[in-house]
Amino acid sequence: MHPGLWREIWILVTIAVLSLFFGVLTGRPFLIAACGFGFYIAWTLRHLRNLHRWLLDRRAGDMPEAGGLWGEVFDEIHKLVKQASRRQDQLSGMLARFQNAASAMPDAVVVLSQAGDIEWANRSAATLLGIHYPHDVGVRLLNLLRVPGFAQYLERGEYAEPLEITSPDNREVHVSIQITPFGSSQKLVMGRDVTRLMRLEQMRRHFVANVSHELRTPLTVLGGYVETLQQMDQIRMEDLKKHLSIMHEQSQRMQRLVDDLLMLSKLETAPPRTQVEPVDIAALLKSLVEQATLLSGENRHDITLEADPSLKLLGSREELHSAFSNLINNAVRYTPAGGKIRLSWRPTDDGAEFAVTDTGEGIAPEHIPHLTERFYRVDTARSRASGGTGLGLSIVKHVLLRHEAKLEIESEVGQGSTFSCVFPAQRVERG
Ligand code: ADP
Repeated sequence: MHPGLWREIWILVTIAVLSLFFGVLTGRPFLIAACGFGFYIAWTLRHLRNLHRWLLDRRAGDMPEAGGLWGEVFDEIHKLVKQASRRQDQLSGMLARFQNAASAMPDAVVVLSQAGDIEWANRSAATLLGIHYPHDVGVRLLNLLRVPGFAQYLERGEYAEPLEITSPDNREVHVSIQITPFGSSQKLVMGRDVTRLMRLEQMRRHFVANVSHELRTPLTVLGGYVETLQQMDQIRMEDLKKHLSIMHEQSQRMQRLVDDLLMLSKLETAPPRTQVEPVDIAALLKSLVEQATLLSGENRHDITLEADPSLKLLGSREELHSAFSNLINNAVRYTPAGGKIRLSWRPTDDGAEFAVTDTGEGIAPEHIPHLTERFYRVDTARSRASGGTGLGLSIVKHVLLRHEAKLEIESEVGQGSTFSCVFPAQRVERG
């Protein structure tokens, strides 16, 4: 048996023996026994009262002192209480860490009660869904999130597919809502900002529409000529040559478009080059001037080149050839006959610069920020008539990005334009 219990039994036996002894001596055994056991009960009740007081208000003071079995009982209770409070501290620490993590999440998180009231929300819920914690605690979510389709979605109870809504505070922001029921009919509402994804999807749709549109015209023309030729029994050689020349022109147009598309896709998907070669830009530009003179043909542009032959550029020859030829061809195509085109390759204070200056038609300021967007043209008919695909400057932008360089455009309507490719020092080599 437990030693503490033995001690209590021993005290009771002692009280009984002493009561009997003094009871026999005094002739009042029952009174003496009642006094002895009454004293014991009072002592026990005092410990119980102390324990009860301490349990009611543990912060008020230390555990009451006691000896014997009561002391052991107090010690055990003290241990249990300490364990429970340590566990509670651990749990509240864990809860605080979870709340901090959920608060820092870029997605909106809202916890709803069984009745659909807001119980908790993180910081992103304010920016994405307009729900402010703790201000909106207890408010019905449906009263705050009044966007089309959300009430039906919440009440339908089928949450396998997310719902896309626009943020109530900012119509430009698109949010994908996903609801997860948990516990006893509570709900976790998560909102993810999908604006970038939606924009990408929109861009993809525009891109496919643009490519189809660009291919449709030459294909229709080609198809028309083939059909006409099939129906003809006889044709003069002169007419046939004329038809074939138009068909050739249209097929070249498609070829240019496909080439530019392939180039763009290569630039976008290829990983950045780790191996770069020093490219002799002066020699590259010399060959590009010859091509530009051919392209200029009867328009006889005055094309001049000023290039520092000792200045080499670390990069990809093929990509730089494509970017520079696009800029030079544009200058030829958008400069009236006899106009001047100046090409320069020179060092700058912090790197080097390739610039093409023309005395062409120039570009109005509102178009300049959009020129590097795919298929953006100031004058679509003019661009197509001169063999443009609308992708040239997009290619230039991507090539320059891959060479840590930037494109600067200065232009004045009726005066001409300057397109400059600005390269940083780490890309330039003297030799
Ligand atoms: P495109 O094939 O139509 O020339 P680009 O991407 O090369 O496509 O150029 C986009 C648009 O920028 C052109 O359609 C044209 O309107 C304008 N542009 C480009 N270069 C020049 C220039 N040197 N002078 C005037 N306008 C230019």
